[in-house]
Amino acid sequence: MSGQRVVYLDNNATTQVAPEVVAAMLPFFGEKYGNPSSMHAFGGQVAAHMAEARQKMADLLGCSPEEIIFTSCGTESDNTAINAALMSHPNKRHIVTTRVEHPAVLNYCQYLARKGYEVTFLPVDRQGNLDLNRVEDAIRDDTAIVSVMWANNETGVIFPVEEIAAMAKAKGAIFHTDAVQAVGKIPIDLSRTHIDMLSLSGHKLHAPKGIGVLYVRKGTPFVPYIRGGHQEHGRRAGTENVPYIIGIGKAAELAARHLEEENTRVKALRDKLEEGLLQIPRTMVNGDRERRLPNTCSVSFEFVEGESILLMLSDLGICASSGSACTSGSLEPSHVLRAMGVPFTAAHGSIRFSLSIYNTEEDIDYVLEHMPGIIARLREISPFWKEAQEKEAAAS
Ligand code: PLP
Repeated sequence: MSGQRVVYLDNNATTQVAPEVVAAMLPFFGEKYGNPSSMHAFGGQVAAHMAEARQKMADLLGCSPEEIIFTSCGTESDNTAINAALMSHPNKRHIVTTRVEHPAVLNYCQYLARKGYEVTFLPVDRQGNLDLNRVEDAIRDDTAIVSVMWANNETGVIFPVEEIAAMAKAKGAIFHTDAVQAVGKIPIDLSRTHIDMLSLSGHKLHAPKGIGVLYVRKGTPFVPYIRGGHQEHGRRAGTENVPYIIGIGKAAELAARHLEEENTRVKALRDKLEEGLLQIPRTMVNGDRERRLPNTCSVSFEFVEGESILLMLSDLGICASSGSACTSGSLEPSHVLRAMGVPFTAAHGSIRFSLSIYNTEEDIDYVLEHMPGIIARLREISPFWKEAQEKEAAAS
């Protein structure tokens, strides 16, 4: 791709590491290489920087630094949270979650179901929303944990997790949220909620891949997932990934500063992109357009394949994702679009564009300049499109 223009619109997959984050991390690969657990001052100075990073993350989330545990990724945080709730309540063997979680929760819950736990996978409606009455009814006396994502990675749909956390609390269950896609995109103040545990991931937040956070509210029963040394107050063993912890701390500071821009300039770019794409015939947006992350646009072009669109976009240097996954040679619509009941002809042609503060108006204009032609060319060779056109002609 050298020399070619790159328009990166796949920020829900991963983000560019902010230059400020790289600069903050570099000394910890060089002269500040001490172990924060060491007794000497050389290590101690590193511990002091780590404490600062923890404070910045706590400030972003509205919690205290003691409630922050650094992990290796969002997946580890999700697994740890669910495991902790089950291990600390051995008599409670029921879990409530949703059908549209990321595999970091979904696959772990499916594994637990195979191990004999009972799991309720809540459905969503056509807009990707949960029915709160159903959520409440699903929580039982033997429910150890309710795990509901804050925002969906494919559609950006936001779940009312504060309300669900209050329901869980009233029924004596732990509440965990996978906030990997929400942090930095919408305001979060944990001090005003009943959320017991929250997961996030550095690489969705302009920090590097391989660093995550698990927030555990003070007083929440906790059992570690990774055992060994006494790091993270005995809650997550293993010598700390110091440079990455410094990086995620810097990223948290930047995220707090950029939150308003995400919800104004970035949102306006997303809306411009979406309105432009909707001018293409037989195109629809997937998910509730109101209760949604400001950066995400999941859109379906009927009668074309998402993968073909992606390849043509990729040739132009435009990076996006499709809403289907290639399993055993056939293209399966994603579990999220299937759970929402998106029709087959649309689910196959779904594309997710996800923006960041690094995107510009020119990026959006570039996509809108090329997209109508791409869809028209693919429809020309689509037998389904031809069939639909013939049916329409016959009906009129
Ligand atoms: N949860 C959600 C909603 C995600 O989007 C992702 C990553 O795509 C994860 C969890 C996993 O995070 P990580 O890649 O840091 O393990």
